[in-house]
Amino acid sequence: MVPEGELLLSATHHDFPHSRGYRGALKYGALSRKIEDFVAWANHEALLQGLPNQVIPEDPHGPIGLSRFRRSLAWHIARRPGGLIALAIQYGHMRTVLDARASSGYGTRSRRGIHSELDVETALAAADTAAHLRDRIAAGERISGPAARRAITATFHAPRFEGRMVPKTFAMKATAYLARDGIVLFDNPDAFLICAFKRDTALCDPDPGATAPNQFACQLGCGNAVRTDSHAQAAREHADRLDAKAALVPQPLGERFRRTANRFRALADAHDSVAQSAEEAIA
Ligand code: SF4
Repeated sequence: MVPEGELLLSATHHDFPHSRGYRGALKYGALSRKIEDFVAWANHEALLQGLPNQVIPEDPHGPIGLSRFRRSLAWHIARRPGGLIALAIQYGHMRTVLDARASSGYGTRSRRGIHSELDVETALAAADTAAHLRDRIAAGERISGPAARRAITATFHAPRFEGRMVPKTFAMKATAYLARDGIVLFDNPDAFLICAFKRDTALCDPDPGATAPNQFACQLGCGNAVRTDSHAQAAREHADRLDAKAALVPQPLGERFRRTANRFRALADAHDSVAQSAEEAIA
């Protein structure tokens, strides 16, 4: 969107007619207007493409505005491996260096604010992961991995949050939800697995008392890993992409891509050879 080294939402590149001396980031008003412009553009495109069910509906609470859009952004960021770190950096703190839960509210860069935000987004993402796993199992997908039984049990107990409002009191519930060691599920699409996080058996070196894994440091052979047929298929597709890339780069790099591709195929093969239906896994 902007040249290297520029602010992502710089006034120079996004607000040319109204920019304040072409310095700094866009201000609240300009950003709020742009969100509304984006909604209008998305709706226009949806109708143009014959997709009326993808139109963004009128919002009973009024314009989306920056504060509410911020939660949408957080939703997407938190659902990527390492996303919580990106989220924490965005809001000014790292989960790993925080220890106290005191004062202030959502939207600040203070300790309570970021803790609540991380816990809420982590809990919602974990509940989504459980709901998706439940759907996959119901659709007949098989499951493998040392934590398969635990993950299936977790899906029975996970609530489903669909398009719900997140009240302030939800932060405490989120913290309690995440504290259920062993039955909170974390999606890790980069490692092609779901992590049924149990602190004592985690190989990614979580801090004492951690309620979420270090997904970016996920290790092969961890006792918390679970795979479904979808993960195996995604691993194979990724391996094919790596092989295609390998043909286009210098040989040493190509060799490395091929080795990685073979590793992902081996993961998928291992899944296929031991995967069971949910009924078999909990029998
Ligand atoms: S190493 Fe284990 S606990 Fe850590 S993210 Fe990977 S599967 Fe989860």
